[in-house]
Amino acid sequence: MCGIFGIRSTPDAARLTQLGLYSLQHRGQESAGVAVVEPDGQAHIVRTMGTLSEGMARELEQLPGDMAIGHTRYSTAGSSTIENAQPIFVQSRGGYISLAHNGNLVNAVQVRAELEASGSIFSTNSDSEVIVHRLAKSHAPTPVARMTEALTGLEGAYSLVATIGRTLLAARDPRGWRPLVMGRLNGAVVFASETCALDIVGAVVEREVAPGEIVVVDDTGVQVIQALEARAPKKCVFEYVYFARPDSMVFGASVSRARRALGRQLAREHPAPTAELVFSVPDSSNSAALGFAEVSGLPYELALIRNHYVGRTFIQPTQAGRDAKVKVKYNPVREVIAGKSVVMVDDSIVRGTTTRGLVAMIRAAGAREVHLRVSSPPIKFPCYYGIDTPTRGELIAANLSQDEIARKLGVDSLGYLSLEGMLGAVPEGPDGFCDACFSGNYPTELPPDLQKC
Ligand code: 5GP
Ligand code: SF4
Ligand code: MG
Repeated sequence: MCGIFGIRSTPDAARLTQLGLYSLQHRGQESAGVAVVEPDGQAHIVRTMGTLSEGMARELEQLPGDMAIGHTRYSTAGSSTIENAQPIFVQSRGGYISLAHNGNLVNAVQVRAELEASGSIFSTNSDSEVIVHRLAKSHAPTPVARMTEALTGLEGAYSLVATIGRTLLAARDPRGWRPLVMGRLNGAVVFASETCALDIVGAVVEREVAPGEIVVVDDTGVQVIQALEARAPKKCVFEYVYFARPDSMVFGASVSRARRALGRQLAREHPAPTAELVFSVPDSSNSAALGFAEVSGLPYELALIRNHYVGRTFIQPTQAGRDAKVKVKYNPVREVIAGKSVVMVDDSIVRGTTTRGLVAMIRAAGAREVHLRVSSPPIKFPCYYGIDTPTRGELIAANLSQDEIARKLGVDSLGYLSLEGMLGAVPEGPDGFCDACFSGNYPTELPPDLQKC
């Protein structure tokens, strides 16, 4: 998963982009980057591995420009290297091109093979680079025509921002898998994955970029073009479950409200009659735990504290790194837990590694009973659309029954939200969502040679 941001028509483009990216840091911590374009078309790129840094901010301060795009990366396709850091930045006929992509293309391998057959030389192994090659190759007369040509025939998920010369473009795939919103800041136009990034720069939300649309911003103003025909919507339901920030609106609705509704439904489906209190695994399940408390009538306690100075566990590419990180990241409040029967609410279980470590920690803190409630259904299938769920072999729910999972995690009881319960609880459900990682119902064909990193 990744976060993207774009802005045009402000003297402060680079600084505002870095600021916006700070609010999208939760969407990716492997690398970050900003591309800046000056009024005369000169352009610059600053990229770094890891999270945004003050060093990067200082570099960006030196870079003038009235237009910029930025990216926080969480690798799905392509390895975790500086070459794969985005924005992708190239010099091409007629000026610079830069591109920041959130999502995953499912036919990138074929498209890449076609491009290579006609002479393209790739410098990364990321799926996003095929879009840049197609942009560079296109002889269409306008930036939007080039973008339309580049996107035609691509299959899978993309929300993207790009600069072609002096034009800023934002585009969203025809199924609207990933969020993308547009706002205004005085005279400037701003795009971001989530509204929390508009809030931080002081921009006002105007509209979502609709599925299949390209929004073009240049000296003549803003143009919205339905470049590709919209298809049956497949918004990623996992954005509401886990990925987006609760203070954001995604897909036009509040993430906080969605999560609370998931928690309420979870309490209806899987009450915990013997429990005395409920707590969340911070931060992503705070709102769901509140919803659970509301319906169950149990007190909501802060029983687990998260260290914010350690990155997300999953960001560690190796299993050994993940195990060690659980302890570094969370610590229980013994005072609250000791002697109690507790409900621990988490938003999802992927491999089960973190959860098992947490349960052991809660028991060691003196809990009498641990009832685990999960505000999404069992994840049984990998995601091919931009979230880095692992292969089936590593997904605990793909391999074990619920009883086996409960035993493996060491809990007294386990309750997962049902698929119907989840889809019924999210805003504008139950239709229009992708739920493939839960249901196996993939909206696209999956090419056999798909890279699943
Ligand atoms: P597990 O027990 O599967 O090792 O980890 C479950 C935890 O990982 C949950 O707290 C959930 O919030 C979090 N999680 C779920 N999906 C993702 C993801 O795509 N990336 C990261 N970093 N964490 C995730
Ligand atoms: Fe989202 Fe799951 Fe669909 Fe991936 S498979 S896009 S995580 S709902
Ligand atoms: Mg979590």
